[in-house]
Amino acid sequence: MAQNFDVVVLGAGPGGYVSAIRAAQLGFKVAVVEPWCDTQGKPSLGGTCLNVGCIPSKALLESSALWEAAHTSWASHGIGTAGLRLDLEAMQARKDKVVRQLTGGVAGLMRSNHITVFHGHGQLVQQGKVSFRGIDETADELLAPHVIIATGSVPVTLPMAPFDNERILDSTGALALEAVPERLGIIGAGVIGLELGSVWRRLGAEVIILEALSDFLPAADEQLARSALKLYGEQGLTIQLGATLQSAHRQGDQVLLRFQQNDSVQELVVDKLVVAVGRRPFTDGVLARDCGVTVNERGFIPVDRYGRTNIEGVYAIGDVAGPPLLAHKAMEEGMAVAEWIKGERSSCDHRLIPSVIYTHPEFAWVGETEQALRDKGIACHAGVVPFAANGRALAMGESEGMVKIISDAKTDEILGVHILGPFASELITEGVTAMAYGASSEDVARTIHAHPTLSEAIHEAALACDKRAIHVRNR
Ligand code: FAD
Ligand code: NAD
Repeated sequence: MAQNFDVVVLGAGPGGYVSAIRAAQLGFKVAVVEPWCDTQGKPSLGGTCLNVGCIPSKALLESSALWEAAHTSWASHGIGTAGLRLDLEAMQARKDKVVRQLTGGVAGLMRSNHITVFHGHGQLVQQGKVSFRGIDETADELLAPHVIIATGSVPVTLPMAPFDNERILDSTGALALEAVPERLGIIGAGVIGLELGSVWRRLGAEVIILEALSDFLPAADEQLARSALKLYGEQGLTIQLGATLQSAHRQGDQVLLRFQQNDSVQELVVDKLVVAVGRRPFTDGVLARDCGVTVNERGFIPVDRYGRTNIEGVYAIGDVAGPPLLAHKAMEEGMAVAEWIKGERSSCDHRLIPSVIYTHPEFAWVGETEQALRDKGIACHAGVVPFAANGRALAMGESEGMVKIISDAKTDEILGVHILGPFASELITEGVTAMAYGASSEDVARTIHAHPTLSEAIHEAALACDKRAIHVRNR
């Protein structure tokens, strides 16, 4: 028999579960449909982000950073490290525990918000109607005037290097390695390549990343991207730009790669290969053939600023609704769509979505880059301050990197903030907040920042926009 709800959400990733909670807070009767099961076959909420994305990768980044710091910097603090031993099994178990804690937390939030969870696949049959097939093979029909599609994304496959889950891995496989490979190849110097490459390099692997583009991180500010590339190289990550993979073949326990670079074909043998060349929106089996929802040529579901698709009462949020493919974007859209359904008019401002790469140092930015403004012919001021001029960074032994604030030359409004340095992921929020309120560099320069803090580098960069930085030479 059909079950009736006000809102049915397909997918319990950060987009789906947040939209469900917000809708429940607003008084709606909500159901969530989610097929994800963990490696033991137990239902698990939280989507890519909690199960195989943001959270497990950050757990391993944290553990591996400690391991590396113990070898590279603890001695300078006067801490002896004789007898250190890597227990990868324990490291992976800790990661799994963090994941379980958070996915269990989402299940608890569903209960406390009185949201009905259906463990299985949902398919939008037509406006207002979802067919449900449970992981236990039960079937049901869910009726609701509002259906939110939040089915996320999956890794892109390269035809010349198909995943075999043994030697040629996607990001999920790369998070679950049981031994540190001697030599790890990665295709794609994007966010996943850099983060997971860092994890395994820190733990002892030789890591070689092949990137098809000749530019490194083209979406980032050129100056900071250049510095980041240099720092990653000094740490031992080998990043080969302009390298196009031609083939990847199993050769016993290894993988033989052939790639083209500078007009010559080269070979590389690796123990494991991770393919991280982007993710594609996931709608397989989600939309019945004649449900009417439009999907664009890249597979995303086009939506307006409130998450509305071309069919009334059907919404799409998060990765499936288009780039950037980020958890915080999915969550923000999740809240906005629930509020829209309630009649409130909030939306996710895509101009203000920060990007973060959790390498060491971290790399984070929001807004425009200097080169993009140059291309648009917009005159700007750039205040650049190295962390080497920041007392807290020096005390921490984290003096690499810099902060760059870009402001409009005419109005002084901040147009972009770029940070390569310690805790850039946390510091960037000051830039996002400033931009959200239309702040000028002068506004940030006149804001008192506690001393000694890393955020003083932001203060100093704001001063530098007007050539009045105190602790660095103004240019
Ligand atoms: P997802 O999290 O992908 O969730 C979609 C859900 O829909 C899944 O649980 C899926 O099982 C479910 N689903 C699929 N089909 C159906 C169906 N038929 N019916 C019902 N449900 C269905 N982003 C960040 O912002 N920060 C990070 O640090 C970060 N790190 C990452 C690290 C890795 C290794 C990866 C792979 C990704 C990372 N991301 C990060 C990206 C982030 O995980 C995604 O942007 C985010 O999960 C998108 O959320 P979503 O809700 O749109 O989709
Ligand atoms: P990405 O888009 O960040 O990087 C993919 C890289 O692969 C690009 O540099 C691209 O030029 C390169 N590439 C594409 N085809 C190639 C080929 N044939 N050979 C060599 N290089 C090739 O994608 P990703 O790293 O796979 O991550 C997927 C998504 O997950 C991203 O969109 C990202 O937003 C999200 N994510 C975010 C975080 C974070 O926020 N910290 C972390 C991990 C993943």
